Amino acid sequence: MSIRKVLRYGEKSLREPSKEVHKVSQKIKVLVDDLLDTMYAQNGVGLAAPQVGENYRIFVIDVSTNEEPLNPMVFINPKIIKKSGACISHEGCLSFPEAFTDVRRYANVMVKAMDRNGRSFVLEAKDGTLLARCIQHEFDHLNGVLFIDHLINRFDAETELSKHDLPPIEVDKLLDEPELQAEVEKLLEAKVEKKE
Ligand code: ZN
Repeated sequence: MSIRKVLRYGEKSLREPSKEVHKVSQKIKVLVDDLLDTMYAQNGVGLAAPQVGENYRIFVIDVSTNEEPLNPMVFINPKIIKKSGACISHEGCLSFPEAFTDVRRYANVMVKAMDRNGRSFVLEAKDGTLLARCIQHEFDHLNGVLFIDHLINRFDAETELSKHDLPPIEVDKLLDEPELQAEVEKLLEAKVEKKE
């Protein structure tokens, strides 16, 4: 097992779609273990294979807190089979060191994938939990989509990127998500009302 270099925003692999894994071979298992090693070394909660320059449909997640035992989760050839609701997610990414911004996400997702042994499983994550949001973030990486493509406030996101010496937003990659955006605006209004 070894720690790999995590690519930074601006590097090509991050925008390339990843290919399906046909067989969970020894080589794939090594990649999975390296992803876990690298994620833990960087104190991340998730890492996708394209972030280390390997464009395979694989990501790993661990949302356990410091007080809990490690809980590595491996997703090979994941498919999001259900999604609903909306939430505002304050996100960062190991490919965007120290930069954080609010993005639109679904609140509930159901994902089907294979584990490190090639066994298929289905997992449901609800209510905008870290796991629910993280699954969407990592899944996006496999399609060359980045969290900033779901941004809620372009000014905030631009400011944050420049503050951390990262390239600017790629405007042509911004996702048009009118239904999610409408839900998010409702959530933002509710937040303001609470404060008043
Ligand atoms: Zn990421």
